[in-house]
Amino acid sequence: MARVRDPIPVPTECPYCSGQVSIMHHRDIYDGRVFSDWPWMYVCDHCGARVGMHPFTNIPLGTLADEATRVARKNCKPAFERLWQRGGMSRSDAYAWLAGKLGLTAAQCHWGLFDIETCHRARDLCAGLMGARP
Ligand SMILES: [Zn+2]
Repeated sequence: MARVRDPIPVPTECPYCSGQVSIMHHRDIYDGRVFSDWPWMYVCDHCGARVGMHPFTNIPLGTLADEATRVARKNCKPAFERLWQRGGMSRSDAYAWLAGKLGLTAAQCHWGLFDIETCHRARDLCAGLMGARP
C-alpha cells in the first residue's frame, strides 16, 4: 500500500444523511466513463455524496462531499495553488500558514476535509494575501 501522510479514516456513515457508504467503480457513477487509474470511490447509498481514494489504496482523499461541497472545494482551491505556485512560498509553508489562519492543525488543513464555509474562508485568505503583495 502506498504511503499517505495523515490518512483519513475510511467512511462508513454519510455525514449529511447518515446513509450507508459503499465502494463504487467510476463506470457505475459516471455513466460508463472512467477518470483515473484507480477508479474507485466511496459513495453514500442514500444521497450520493462521494469522495475518491488515494491511488492504489483504500484511503479516502477527504471526507464525503455532496455536490455543493465538491463545487466549493474545486472552485476555491485554485486561490491556494496560486499562493504557493506564484507566491514565493513552498506548498507545505502555504499549508502551515493557512492552518494558522483558519485555526486548524496541519492534519485538519486539507481541501478534502473543508466544508463549504471553510473553503470560502480559505479562498479569501489566500486571495487576500496575494492581493497584498506587489
Ligand atoms: Zn448521504
